[in-house]
Amino acid sequence: MKPKLRSIWVFHLNTGSCNGCDIEIIDVLTPFYDVERFGIKLVGSPRHAHALLVSGPLTRQAYYSAKETIKAMPPQPRVIVAIGTCACSGGIFYNGYPIYRRPESGRESCEYPRKGGINELLEDLKEEGEPIGPVIYIPGCPPRPEEIIYGIAQLIGLVEKRLSYQEYSDDTMKFRLPEGPIEERIRLTLRERLRHLVGYLDRERILEDFMKLVEQVEKSENPREELARLVKDYAAKCGDVRLAFCMALLENEYWRVRDALDAGKEFVYWI
Ligand code: SF4
Repeated sequence: MKPKLRSIWVFHLNTGSCNGCDIEIIDVLTPFYDVERFGIKLVGSPRHAHALLVSGPLTRQAYYSAKETIKAMPPQPRVIVAIGTCACSGGIFYNGYPIYRRPESGRESCEYPRKGGINELLEDLKEEGEPIGPVIYIPGCPPRPEEIIYGIAQLIGLVEKRLSYQEYSDDTMKFRLPEGPIEERIRLTLRERLRHLVGYLDRERILEDFMKLVEQVEKSENPREELARLVKDYAAKCGDVRLAFCMALLENEYWRVRDALDAGKEFVYWI
C-alpha cells in the first residue's frame, strides 16, 4: 500500500465485543505502546475520525448505532479497521443468536445462519450508496498490540503487506463436512438444533434421551409412528412442557435429516 495518510484520527466503536479486544486497543493508545508517535490519535467523535476501530461481532443491538456512527464520519477516507476475529468474521459468536443477519435470505426465522462481523454492515451501507474507504482486518482473539500496530502501520503506509490477499469462494474451495458415520452426523445436527433452545449441560442429557428412543424404534415396522408414540409418552412422563417441546423439535429435525439423506440430498446439516 502506498503512503496516503500522514496521520489518522481514529474513533473506537464496540459492536458487541467481550472487552478483550478493547483492552488491547486501549493498550496501543496509552503510553506503553503510544501509537500517537505514528500520528494515530484517538478522537471523541466519529465526525472528526478518518478511521473507525471496530471491535466485536456486530450484534443486532449495536447494528443501528454502528450504522449511524459510520454515516457520521466524513465520507473520505472513511477507513474501517476491524480489530479481532469477532469484528472480522463473527469469531466465536459466528452464527450465534444475537448476531445481526442481512435480510437477503428473505426469511424471518431465527434459523438463518448468521455470519457476523462488521462486513455485514458494510455490505448494507454499500447498497445504500454510502462511501466506504479501505477496510483493514486484524484477526486474533484478541490481537496482540503489536499486531494492531502492524495493521495500522500498513494502513498509513509505514510498512508493506507481507501476505497476498485471498478470498474464499465456492469455486475455489468446496465446503466439505468431515467424513464420519452418518448416525454421528445426525446426532451432531440434532445437538446443534437443540443449542437454540437449551444450554450445554441439559442439551447433552435431552439428546441422549432422544437418541435412546431412536434406537428403540430403528428396527420396528413403522418407526415414524413408533417414535411419535415414544416421544409422546416421554412428554407425558416428564410433565415438563419445555422438555416436551425439545423432544418434539428433535423428532421433527430427525425426520427432516433422515428423509433428506434417504432422498440423497447433500446439505441437510446444521453444523
Ligand atoms: S476477538 Fe476474542 S477478545 Fe476480541 S471481542 Fe471477540 S472474543 Fe473478545
